[in-house]
Amino acid sequence: MKNDCLFCAIAAGEIPSNKVYEDDLCYAFYDIAPQAPTHFLVIPKSHIGSVAEVSGDNSAVVAHIFEVIAKVTKELGLESYRVVSNIGEQAGQSVHHLHFHVLSGRDMTWPPG
Ligand code: IMP
Repeated sequence: MKNDCLFCAIAAGEIPSNKVYEDDLCYAFYDIAPQAPTHFLVIPKSHIGSVAEVSGDNSAVVAHIFEVIAKVTKELGLESYRVVSNIGEQAGQSVHHLHFHVLSGRDMTWPPG
């Protein structure tokens, strides 16, 4: 756990969140400012700053997160959804703990803005 990391604190239960799913490796919770009718985030419990910090040492949790996304979206009945991770300021990353947005329930445009 990294000091002063909002998502480390959420994963540890120190800051309340609306939980979607949890296991030993990852935590999923609804976004506080939803950009679609369904919008939740999936994060590793261990601190990784972004996709840019994924390596052979920690990539197993990323594969696990995608398994969780497939499972949870099925359980929620979501047949079409978008998975997004922003890396760096220009791409819109505001929280520096790896997270995958899962958005569903409305028409989406391409390319994203
Ligand atoms: P980013 O901008 O791609 O880094 O995504 C960070 C996301 O975290 C944004 O969509 C925020 O709305 C969301 N967020 C920030 N603080 C909280 C919180 O306390 N609970 C749930 N979501 C949050």
